[in-house]
Amino acid sequence: MEGIIDFHTHAFPDALADRAMAALSAEAPQLPYYHDGRVGSLLKSMDAAGIGRSVLCSIATRPNQFEPILEWSKQIRSERIIPFPSIHPDDPNPGIHIAKVADEGFKGIKMHPYYQSFLMDEPRLYRTYELISRHNLILVLHTGFDIAFERIRRADPARILQVIKDFPELKLVTTHLGGWEQWEEVEATLIGKPIYMEISFTHGYISSDNVMRMLRAHPGDFLLFGTDSPWDDPSEALQRIAQLKLGKELEEKILVRNAQRLLGGKE
Ligand SMILES: [Zn+2]
Repeated sequence: MEGIIDFHTHAFPDALADRAMAALSAEAPQLPYYHDGRVGSLLKSMDAAGIGRSVLCSIATRPNQFEPILEWSKQIRSERIIPFPSIHPDDPNPGIHIAKVADEGFKGIKMHPYYQSFLMDEPRLYRTYELISRHNLILVLHTGFDIAFERIRRADPARILQVIKDFPELKLVTTHLGGWEQWEEVEATLIGKPIYMEISFTHGYISSDNVMRMLRAHPGDFLLFGTDSPWDDPSEALQRIAQLKLGKELEEKILVRNAQRLLGGKE
């Protein structure tokens, strides 16, 4: 299919990639990965799978990582790589930094409640959400549990609903089909509502029947293909979607059109 967009990928600067992948793998040793964490390797895996563009999510694990991540994001952006820089919840200058992300022409920001130690709906995040919303940026926020962390409810469906209620204009993209390993609650409270869901990382954790049922019950304009590459193989992820037999129209929305619309067409 022409123009497939992967809305959830990761890579690191070449000089740091080996160290980053080793550290992340030590936290979740059971989890296989499919490339070495370099942008060049991500591009190769996209070529092999027939993926046109990828949203590359960075995570600032300390406030002072904002600048280096922004600089690197500027270096690697291309027709095919769409970097989402990252804001830390304790960033001392969120107003200046979020404006900078928007002024530099980036489409969105990535945040992660486990790697950045926050609860999704706690008050210290609210100014950040307001600024992201005001600058019309997309926020990709890790939702559900995280395989590498203790099961504290940092971004569960109830917190997602609270943030959406408080920031109806925020272009929030939840990850992992609404919330990793919280799919019963996702199905009970989020499915059917106009909430963007990137759909990576369900394979092996819930049955494809459940995935299919949830995808069919959700508004088709709010689903986005994602792999969490390098922690999944994009070719296999695409094959699994094809096997769900969602029909040409829904499949095209998930793989191409919704992301195209959100990202504002070709860059
Ligand atoms: Zn991820």
